[in-house]
Amino acid sequence: MSDRDDRVPPAHWESWNPVSGCTKVSEGCRHCYAERFAERWRGIPGHYYELGFDLQLRPERLELPLRWRQPRRVFVDSMSDLFHGRIPDEYVREVFAVMERAPHHVFHVLTKRPERLLALAPSLPWPPNLWMGVTVERMDYAARADALRRVPAAVRHISAEPLLGPLDALDLTCIDLVIAGGESGAERRPPDPDWLRGLRDRCVAAGVAFTFKGWGGRGQRDGGRLLDGREWQQSPAIVAAGDMEDEAPSQGAQEALF
Ligand code: SF4
Repeated sequence: MSDRDDRVPPAHWESWNPVSGCTKVSEGCRHCYAERFAERWRGIPGHYYELGFDLQLRPERLELPLRWRQPRRVFVDSMSDLFHGRIPDEYVREVFAVMERAPHHVFHVLTKRPERLLALAPSLPWPPNLWMGVTVERMDYAARADALRRVPAAVRHISAEPLLGPLDALDLTCIDLVIAGGESGAERRPPDPDWLRGLRDRCVAAGVAFTFKGWGGRGQRDGGRLLDGREWQQSPAIVAAGDMEDEAPSQGAQEALF
C-alpha cells in the first residue's frame, strides 16, 4: 500500500471529468443525477452534452488539474464511472498518471465497477493523494468493498449514497472513510434513520471516519444534514490521530456531489 497522505484535505472542491456518460449497473444508478443533467441537453447542436449521457472521452480535459495551482479536493468523473468497460485501459492509466503528477491535490475516485478496478489495479500508479472508493448502497453490493480491500490505495472509502438499506453486516476492515447520504430528486427513496445511525455507530466503534452528506430531498440540499442533532464530516487523518473532531465542513463539499 502507498503511504497515506495524512494532511487534512483541501477545503476547496472541484469536479474533474476526463470522461462523461455512463450506463447503469445497480440500484444506486436508478435516478443517476449525472444522467438527468446530461440528457437535458441531448440533441442541442454544439452543446457540450449534445450526445446526452452517451459515454465520451474528453481528452482535452485530461491535464486540467495540472493547471490548478492551489490545492483542491477533486472528485474525478462525477459525470461518469472511470472503470466503465468502454473506457480504454490506456486512457484510465493516463488519468491516474495525471493524479500522480498533481500531488498538491487530493483526488477522490469512485466506482461501481470493482471487477475492472481489480483487473487494472496492478498496472496503475497509487500515489498517496488518491482516495479510492466504491459505492455500497445496499448489502447485496457489499462485495465491492471486498474488491476495494485488495487495491493498494492509500485511502479507501465507501460511498453509501444513496443509502437504500441497512449495512449492518458491512465489513469495515481496511476502510478509512464511509460517506453516507439519502437520495435526491422527485422520485427519491428516503433512507430509514436507523440505517444511518447503525452505520455511523459501527464506524465510530471501528475508528473509521464517517461523513453524512444529508437526507436528500427534492433538491440536493433539501432535508438538511443533521444526524441526531449534529453534522458528521470526519477526515481519515483526524480519526487516525485519535481525535474524533470533524474537519471543517465546506460548502464546496456538498456542491462537488462526491
Ligand atoms: S455508475 Fe454512477 S455515473 Fe454511471 S449510471 Fe451509475 S450512478 Fe450514474
